Amino acid sequence: MSCEKCKKELAQNMLHFIDHAPTAYHAVAQLEERLSAQGFTKLFEYDRWSLQSGGKYYVTRNGSSLIAFTIPSGDTVSDYRVVSAHTDSPSFKLKDRFERSSDNYSKLNVEKYGGMICSSWLDRPLSIAGRVLLSDEQGIKTRLVNFDRPMAIIPNVAIHMDRSVNDGKSYNAQVDMLPITGIATDNGSFKKQLADEIGVEETQILSHDLYLYPCDKGYVWGAEAEMITSPRLDDLMCVYGALEAFETMSNEHDHINIFAAFDNEEVGSQTLQGAASSLFEDTISRIEYFLGNDEQDRQARLSRSLMLSADNAHAVHPNHPEYADAQNKPVIGGGVVLKFNAQQRYATDGIGAALLRRIAQQKELVLQPYANRSDMPGGSTLGNIASTRVPIRTIDIGLPQLAMHSAMETAGVLDLCDYVALCRAFYGANIKPTAENGYTMEA
Ligand code: ZN
Repeated sequence: MSCEKCKKELAQNMLHFIDHAPTAYHAVAQLEERLSAQGFTKLFEYDRWSLQSGGKYYVTRNGSSLIAFTIPSGDTVSDYRVVSAHTDSPSFKLKDRFERSSDNYSKLNVEKYGGMICSSWLDRPLSIAGRVLLSDEQGIKTRLVNFDRPMAIIPNVAIHMDRSVNDGKSYNAQVDMLPITGIATDNGSFKKQLADEIGVEETQILSHDLYLYPCDKGYVWGAEAEMITSPRLDDLMCVYGALEAFETMSNEHDHINIFAAFDNEEVGSQTLQGAASSLFEDTISRIEYFLGNDEQDRQARLSRSLMLSADNAHAVHPNHPEYADAQNKPVIGGGVVLKFNAQQRYATDGIGAALLRRIAQQKELVLQPYANRSDMPGGSTLGNIASTRVPIRTIDIGLPQLAMHSAMETAGVLDLCDYVALCRAFYGANIKPTAENGYTMEA
């Protein structure tokens, strides 16, 4: 992935993916489409699974989390090799009753999903996407919807009316962050527009999970086309890059490769389909059933297994380097970030870091360490949450980016290329633990 054309193509393909993934449902729908095209078979949690050696499968939960895996074609299955990331991003969700009006405007009643930089959502064309639950003769059915055009705006207050707007403004989600969808008219409620958009009667709409999203398309920029700016880089960049590596791996080795994309990281992962749910554990159990359902084998396999938990990381800010640690501060273009935290908000420890550095060295890739300033708590991510349910050594990584949780985030083209190469090396390597708390490794 080192030639100019490949770099450009990878970044553009990722932006295309992000552009078509305004919500976690749409992200998963795209993942499904790609995996199906690559010959993966869809499994359903409500069915029994009959797996086969050499098989390629995926399963979804709630249409917003997905786990794909490949089973080796040979007789031995030594371990699991997992890369995980998350499908959701901070947004504003429409409340069940969402129509409001004030003065001459029709407005939407929304609440926060996750923690966004509120100011970045103002005066920006917004669209609406998600899923709608419809009533039909048989029962209920889900329909994905994406308006894919400007539908709303959250207007700023003019500086003449709020002189403090440039002095550290705070935003009240109940008051300041309600979007308008136009001028209120008697005929033409937003619910009617929604029904028209999906071609049903308004009365068929039973419920919905709908979100605002910025209409802006992502773009590549910079003197050497080295920068990427787009909505939802956290964490669709990691989702896309991991898939890119995963789907092309052969199953001519002795480990099961897994690609996991979880919903609800932005709200703590403690949901039916989040990283703290049983989804990962249940999937492992069903694979273990196929492998012979031997508890000792299962424990041994898990103890030999490894996971990369990939979630974007803070690059040092050009105007505020003081927010970064003195030495452990990644830069855009400097390579994949290895995240450390003594309080174990990140799962990486000395062994995990050494292992990944060794894998990176073999591919001539550089890893950048990240640690929070010791007087700042920082964020958390998927790694430790998933590994408490399924005991797998986990290494927290990410891609360096600016403006995390802004409506538009910024990252680097080369880092994405490095990440795909790192995931490929990780999926492909033959890695076995030794009695001395080390590992033997062959690329
Ligand atoms: Zn994230």
